[in-house]
Amino acid sequence: MTSVLQAQALGKRYGKRWALRECTVDIPAGHVVGLVGPNGAGKTTLLKLAGGQLEPTTGDITVLGGRPGSTPAQLARVGFVAQDTPLYAALTVAEHLRLGARLNPRWDAALARERSGQLGLDPSHRAGKLSGGERAQLALTLGLAKRPELLIMDEPVASLDPLARREFLHRLTEATAEHKLSVVLSSHLVSDLEKVCDYLIVLVDSRVRVAGEVDRLLATHHRLTGSLHAF
Ligand code: ATP
Repeated sequence: MTSVLQAQALGKRYGKRWALRECTVDIPAGHVVGLVGPNGAGKTTLLKLAGGQLEPTTGDITVLGGRPGSTPAQLARVGFVAQDTPLYAALTVAEHLRLGARLNPRWDAALARERSGQLGLDPSHRAGKLSGGERAQLALTLGLAKRPELLIMDEPVASLDPLARREFLHRLTEATAEHKLSVVLSSHLVSDLEKVCDYLIVLVDSRVRVAGEVDRLLATHHRLTGSLHAF
């Protein structure tokens, strides 16, 4: 089976500082993968390497069996929702959907309309006026409508209150089951990820501390929930 993410001794250095080092993982496709770690652990760096936005300093990475960002076709297979959801404050919800349709050859207009309707997003509302939760949901909708095989999301719930966090993660679980896509998302908190993800990568100080299926990790690392001190 194709791996969603395969890394071999992957490393990224900025000047003298290693943001990620010796990262070796192999995760079968179809998983919802959580990437957890404290500030500066290297989460964004790993996600950008997977999205093809950065080149490795050392080692190799493949995503869905291909080199990240190596061709337009490979790029179209992977959706990337950056940490500060890339919405345009002056554009309305409807304009974001139209823009998505123009920019993405695989765009699913029916899915985008249906999802934003279900979420109760007013098509005439400007993105700048949406709540944090609504912005996150719109960014997820735009990511799904691109019909990627893998959706990467960098800390999508970091700035949300507990209610909006729960709602977002619930919608994400529904969407991954319905669209059968692989997902990699990051967070500072295991508690955000343990119910949504079936695979976890724990990054501490630029290195993978532990990686594996959530059930197995929870069974062997009793204090995993809500805390990284177990590592
Ligand atoms: P956070 O949770 O705060 O977003 P993170 O786990 O996503 O952190 P990264 O953003 O990957 O961590 O950063 C890892 C390390 O690399 C940090 O020490 C950061 O300061 C450094 N770093 C990241 N990007 C750059 C850059 N463009 N130039 C120099 N150093 C960088």
